Amino acid sequence: MNIRTQVIHGGHQVDPQTGAVNMPIYQTTTFKQTELGGGAKWEYTRSENPTRASLEELIASLEHGTAGFAFSSGMSAIHAVMSTLSAGDHILLADDVYGGTFRLVNSILARLGITYDQVDMADLPAVTSAFTANTKMIFLETPTNPLLKLADIQALSLIAHNHQATLAVDNTFATPYNQVPLDLGADFVVHSGTKYIGGHSDVLSGFVVTNDDRHSAEIKHLQMSIGATLGASDSYLVLRSLKTFALRMRAHNDNAQALFNWLQTQSQVAKIYYPGDASSAQYAIAQKQMHGGFGGMISVELQAGLDVKKFVESLKIFTLAESLGGVESLVEVPAVMTHASIPADIRHEHGITDELIRISVGIEDSQDLIADFQQGLAQL
Ligand SMILES: *Cc1c(COP(=O)(O)O)cnc(C)c1O
Repeated sequence: MNIRTQVIHGGHQVDPQTGAVNMPIYQTTTFKQTELGGGAKWEYTRSENPTRASLEELIASLEHGTAGFAFSSGMSAIHAVMSTLSAGDHILLADDVYGGTFRLVNSILARLGITYDQVDMADLPAVTSAFTANTKMIFLETPTNPLLKLADIQALSLIAHNHQATLAVDNTFATPYNQVPLDLGADFVVHSGTKYIGGHSDVLSGFVVTNDDRHSAEIKHLQMSIGATLGASDSYLVLRSLKTFALRMRAHNDNAQALFNWLQTQSQVAKIYYPGDASSAQYAIAQKQMHGGFGGMISVELQAGLDVKKFVESLKIFTLAESLGGVESLVEVPAVMTHASIPADIRHEHGITDELIRISVGIEDSQDLIADFQQGLAQL
């Protein structure tokens, strides 16, 4: 089934009790048991809730998995995946992984005896040689934040499996509209549903999707035991958002492509990072594993000496704000905002210069977005 149909009819979005065409918000913590020890389907909302279950079925179908799990945030979803590990295990973490993921591994899992090394996931020989006898998981994002670097999911899943390790892919930036990691051999897909899945910058959520019964049982156990589940009302909001997910993603993809094409003609722009850049060395990977489009994220570096502060403050349609993936276009300056906690020398070494601007392209009219950038650049 095409994803445009799946978002409307995937999962069980009609209420089986009443036939309501929208899954109701089952705002209840407990469920009446009709007989003692009868093994009723619904017992207590931390373990199962009908609204959340409907969303979980839908996200599983969008990511071509057999089971989906909804969490209260992307971080709690990532925590669940990493909690499949035990003291003594080792993780290979992408070198430019999301800051919150790094903090979780570096400051919490490390305390529990789970070690890690960071590696450039685009350098496959480096990944292979970074394995230790205890490496149990590769964890990566593709495209990455904010330089939109790609990693070859299929090649990395083979490397992981050759070492009896799992591959976990954070698919927040690409989304299942553009990339389906489980089809490429990944074992776990995680999402910050706060971004494109929710899409309206109004609800935090996170997801894990698996396609293996053992992994599904493990995540189910962790979700119930740790308890960071998504509430019924927020589950409903995300279900509602997903109905327009395919339409939104098509608009994000098209607008980002249009803005990229225009940015390429601008002399004040020194560098552009975009997965759909056909002239870049990583384009072959994009073509191999991304379909639908290349997503709504672009990063640009203005020419050295141009006033980045003046530029971002002069924009009228793009809002200066962190986060991404909402219907509204945003810009942010990683060196000052999302990546400010990384020491300047390390930041520069990774290519995150003070002139770098990350753009989350929304679903407005593309000509209006281009005109806004044009008037902003004209002021410099
Ligand atoms: C935002 C984000 C997260 C964290 O998600 P929250 O919903 O904020 O907890 C994880 N990974 C990526 C790539 C993100 O962009």
